Amino acid sequence: MSLHSVATLEEKSFDNNILELVERDTIESWSAEEILTWAVGKFSDKLTIAASFGAPEGMVLVDMLHRLDPATRVFVLDTGRLHPATYDLIDRVRDRYGKSVEVVFPNHEDVEKMVREKGMNLFYETLKNRQLCCQIRKVQPMRRHLAGFDAYVTGLRRDQNLNRADTRKAVLDSSQGGVMKLNPLADWTHERVMDYVGLHTVPINRLHREGYPSVGCEPCTRAVGLGDDLRAGRWWWENDDVKECGLHVQEEADGSGI
Ligand code: SF4
Repeated sequence: MSLHSVATLEEKSFDNNILELVERDTIESWSAEEILTWAVGKFSDKLTIAASFGAPEGMVLVDMLHRLDPATRVFVLDTGRLHPATYDLIDRVRDRYGKSVEVVFPNHEDVEKMVREKGMNLFYETLKNRQLCCQIRKVQPMRRHLAGFDAYVTGLRRDQNLNRADTRKAVLDSSQGGVMKLNPLADWTHERVMDYVGLHTVPINRLHREGYPSVGCEPCTRAVGLGDDLRAGRWWWENDDVKECGLHVQEEADGSGI
């Protein structure tokens, strides 16, 4: 199936000071607050937060960045299959921070064609189908949206799963036109994230209290048992080594990081 065309991505260009910081791994030794302070100063309105509203990490970043610069932009990919609890949280964040969350939708023609040809719940049938659905509902809209930014912030952490073990705090994301991808919480633990949430009464997805450490699309997420891996409830019918939606694969797969 061919995807609806997306805007051609132009490679971003950064000044040498920024490139040197990334190439020399200088940012690896910075704290989350230091990274965000630097990013706000460098990228201003060309900086955005990619928040799923289904993980506490993204909410921590929204809170931290709001303290630094209330004008910092935040977006969420609305796949059309999110949990009602996630939609509730988007509105709670808007109310709490007075922030207009930018809701990004997939191309409707691509979604219509996909479900007409393969069914509403195609993702359970094959890995290829699941990846196609993630491509159309997440990866392509993300790429389109990020074309308007120079840098984006994510809540990736190294101990979330094996695929994220090598996550670096700053990379040039070749899958997104060379935009800078910042992962300030890469070396945080889950406990540290939840301590921040408690200390600052950060709003989080209510499903976290019902056994969902990570909330993705409703049909592809379920609660996990005590002691289970934090992402065990995501695409639970697949092997661990393929459990990514494609948003965070490229720069980790090629290992270049710059
Ligand atoms: S998580 Fe599931 S429903 Fe959501 S985009 Fe991926 S395959 Fe589709």
